[in-house]
Amino acid sequence: MSETASRIESAVTEIAEEMQARADRGKVADYIPELALVDPAGFGIAVIDNQGGVFAAGDCDTPFSVQSITKVFTLTLALGMVGDRLWRRVGREPSGSAFNSIVQLEHEHGIPRNPFINAGAIAVTDLILSGHEPREALGEILRFVQFLADDQTIKIDKAVAASEQRTGFRNRALANYMKSFGVIENPVDYTLGVYFHHCAIAMSCRQLAMAGRFLAHSGRHPTTGRSVIHMERARRINALMLTCGHYDGSGDFAYRVGLPGKSGVGGGILAIAPGKATIAVWSPGLDAAGNSHLGRIALELLTKRLGWSIFGG
Ligand code: GLN
Repeated sequence: MSETASRIESAVTEIAEEMQARADRGKVADYIPELALVDPAGFGIAVIDNQGGVFAAGDCDTPFSVQSITKVFTLTLALGMVGDRLWRRVGREPSGSAFNSIVQLEHEHGIPRNPFINAGAIAVTDLILSGHEPREALGEILRFVQFLADDQTIKIDKAVAASEQRTGFRNRALANYMKSFGVIENPVDYTLGVYFHHCAIAMSCRQLAMAGRFLAHSGRHPTTGRSVIHMERARRINALMLTCGHYDGSGDFAYRVGLPGKSGVGGGILAIAPGKATIAVWSPGLDAAGNSHLGRIALELLTKRLGWSIFGG
């Protein structure tokens, strides 16, 4: 094993041990009833370096609900389908407000600030859905994630999707509001059905890190060598993850971790060290901004130890 590989391995193992022992674990999301059932004691981490080395520890093989992390994959898919036309419907600025906030939408005439807040991701989902049946669009998204991760076993957790379908009143409000401005093309229930289901994709840290590799490889799928997206787009998706991937906590995440990252209310975070590695962490307890509390701390420790912050040091 190379010296770098053994440094990554010991960092991953020691950070997992430290995180598993910590008492401050944040609060599990309970606005989606099914997510409230998850045990806050879990912690997993997986790092895949650009040479293909896999370093994983803790509950790295436990599937969890990826939730908003899937917005990275739907954005990638939608950009491939419609190109820069996407930016007529969604902005590229940090929102400075909660992931499910509705206030900005009125001021900005139904155009969501960015593709990672709920409103933006619902608009992106609607673009993928246009011209398809909901079932086809969802199948397309799931197959895309399976392809990225080289793993056909990745599934949608139907109980989580149904739970959000029953209780997602705020997302329904966001979608209806955008529909009134013509930002949503399809029937709101169809768009939301696809959105709730792709948020309910379940993956382990190992699978999630695999799925994110193309963003550390300038848009290339490292196993097949195929281009998933153009290099320039991969760079821009990373930029959006850095500025918008943690909602109102994005500034703090950049300050502490220094990597493009995307969180989900299931407690996962996907982080990209461009040209170096892909990292997935999971701990279900969240902080006040809805981002994994220990996940962020673990990433902060890891980037510091390995000198991986994109800002140097
Ligand atoms: N499905 C969740 C929602 O729409 C995703 C939110 C998140 O992970 N931040 O509320």
